[in-house]
Amino acid sequence: MNIFLETNMKPNKNFIDGKWVASLEKETYQQKNPANLEQVTGIWPKSGLADVENAIDAAQKAYQNWSALTVHKRAEYLKKALSLMMERVPRIAEVLTAENGKTLGESRLEIRAAIKEMEFQISEGLYSLGEVMPSVQDGVLAYSTRRPLGVVAVIAPWNFPFNVPVRKCIPALMAGNTCILKPAQLTPGSGAAFVKLFEDAGLPAGVLNFVSGSGSVVGNALVKSPAVKAISFTGSTEVGTGIHQVASANLTRTQLEMGGKNAMVILKDADLEMAAHEATRAAFVCSGQWCTATSRIIVEKPVLDDFLGLLIENVKQLVVGNGTSRDTGMGPVCGEAQLKNILLGIEKGKSEGAEIVIGGGQLKEGGLAKGCFIEPTIFTGVTPDMYIAQEEIFGPVLSVIAVDDFEQALDVANNVRFGLSSSIFTNDLEKTHLFIDSTDVGLTHVNMSTAYKEPQLSFGGIKQSGSGIPEAGRTGIEFFTDHKVVYLKSKP
Ligand code: NAP
Ligand code: MG
Repeated sequence: MNIFLETNMKPNKNFIDGKWVASLEKETYQQKNPANLEQVTGIWPKSGLADVENAIDAAQKAYQNWSALTVHKRAEYLKKALSLMMERVPRIAEVLTAENGKTLGESRLEIRAAIKEMEFQISEGLYSLGEVMPSVQDGVLAYSTRRPLGVVAVIAPWNFPFNVPVRKCIPALMAGNTCILKPAQLTPGSGAAFVKLFEDAGLPAGVLNFVSGSGSVVGNALVKSPAVKAISFTGSTEVGTGIHQVASANLTRTQLEMGGKNAMVILKDADLEMAAHEATRAAFVCSGQWCTATSRIIVEKPVLDDFLGLLIENVKQLVVGNGTSRDTGMGPVCGEAQLKNILLGIEKGKSEGAEIVIGGGQLKEGGLAKGCFIEPTIFTGVTPDMYIAQEEIFGPVLSVIAVDDFEQALDVANNVRFGLSSSIFTNDLEKTHLFIDSTDVGLTHVNMSTAYKEPQLSFGGIKQSGSGIPEAGRTGIEFFTDHKVVYLKSKP
């Protein structure tokens, strides 16, 4: 498998109706390696409305046969794709690193996590079809079944461009839907590598389609189409909110996984070494470009200095560089727009009076000058109303907020528009339970990083971080199905 190498520097294609086909639009764009912007990793179509229509037609045509298969037969196809995924981890990791910039180790972890998601969603799909409930009447069998929706669309982000399509497309396909994937423009090769697995596994034509192009054209056309019955989206709150508005005109259901401003609360009895270690990982792995990355540390004043000392020591060890190098602990950020946004966020922090204790700028020495490298950055003296305490910067930037006590920590943690993930470091059981009850998020953690997740549980935020039935876990398949309730009297 070397779709990426084979197609490198040639206009890549869409995958529609079981074939790689050129876009009907002539316009293309270059995807560049964020570690070296002079290196073009691929030329991709900016597809248009006719391409989207063709993909929808193909998916509609394939729907009848695919949904009529037994779920076990559908699982057979997906298991073949899964075994190819396992074989191709190193190759797909190269694609991911070249497009996104994350280190090869982070890319391999993303793919291995995707394998676990896929294993869970395949087995969940086999066993989660409806329920039987005792009827109140004699002789009546009362039960429900789940039905697929039809054609569904997945709109993916660039930060987990392989894992997110897996997490969304697999439950959709297991349930009997047919699917169209729109990758982020920054990471089309990772999406194409995912789709190629299914081509090679012999998935029937039209069941999974792939259309490369912009969100405003391809994404919007999918969201607007009455033929598309569900939209599963991961990305920014602003785009997700717009998608929700457009989709609601057709009552199309949406699953929106969006931004975060995730807090790690550190109480004065915490194991500070463990907390500093976890904070370093949660804030700077993947250059802070995780939706569940820790971007706020809320720490009780008596341990502020000790904690900061340990944190800075940890962060100093991070070597920033090309993700392909073994020594690299943190790669570039994903492209020029990200670079600019993150640097703007850092400038805002400075102008609001927060103090930088480490990092704070772009790295341009030697080979780094050609890429999008930012120092891991920590601000102290941050107050809860500052931009860097309220808004997602989505990069390697951590805001440290000092508080008087647990009550204030909780208050600060909750006082943002986002509600994705949180964590607390303490051994105080009473406060732990209070925090679990009162933290306004979709997932929370105790003595663990905000970024931790497992595939068998749902994943999604509240407030402006998420809307709709959450993805992954047992709700993964729920989103992509309708319920039909049956009352059956055998003897009238
Ligand atoms: P984004 O700009 O919202 O884009 C996400 C996807 O939506 C891309 O494929 C994009 O296409 C597409 N899109 C853009 N405008 C659209 C429109 N009008 N209609 C339909 N689709 C449209 O987000 P991003 O910059 O890729 O990702 C960063 C954000 O994702 C962060 O806020 C992060 O927190 C969030 N995120 C959340 C989760 C979660 O599960 N909660 C996970 C990962 C990331 P283009 O490529 O053309 O822009
Ligand atoms: Mg964007």
